[in-house]
Amino acid sequence: MATNENMQRRRFLILAGISAIAVPVALRWPTEASAAAKPLIPLPLTNAQAHALNYAEDASLVKAANHKPGSACANCQLFTPGTNACSLFAGYSVAPKGWCSAWSKSTRSG
Ligand code: SF4
Repeated sequence: MATNENMQRRRFLILAGISAIAVPVALRWPTEASAAAKPLIPLPLTNAQAHALNYAEDASLVKAANHKPGSACANCQLFTPGTNACSLFAGYSVAPKGWCSAWSKSTRSG
């Protein structure tokens, strides 16, 4: 037969267990949600990696020897339509009409 003290101890342990799970989840959830919703910033031309890769916002103006006519971010494998993200530049968006020397022909259909 459980005494009143034992029941209080059991209730405390149950609440402590729930808190041990709920508090970390509650603290982590807003961080992940805000990271997912974080808007991309247009890639600045002053970005060192962009500069090193000869990134331009208008592919038609690119004079680089390795630029293929018709190549642009919009038809690059590393480009994500909809968000204009480029997997080379985390946190940034690139211009769909842009280009850089890392361009790789997209295999996306459509
Ligand atoms: Fe554009 Fe592709 Fe270069 Fe990214 S890797 S900047 S999508 S050309």
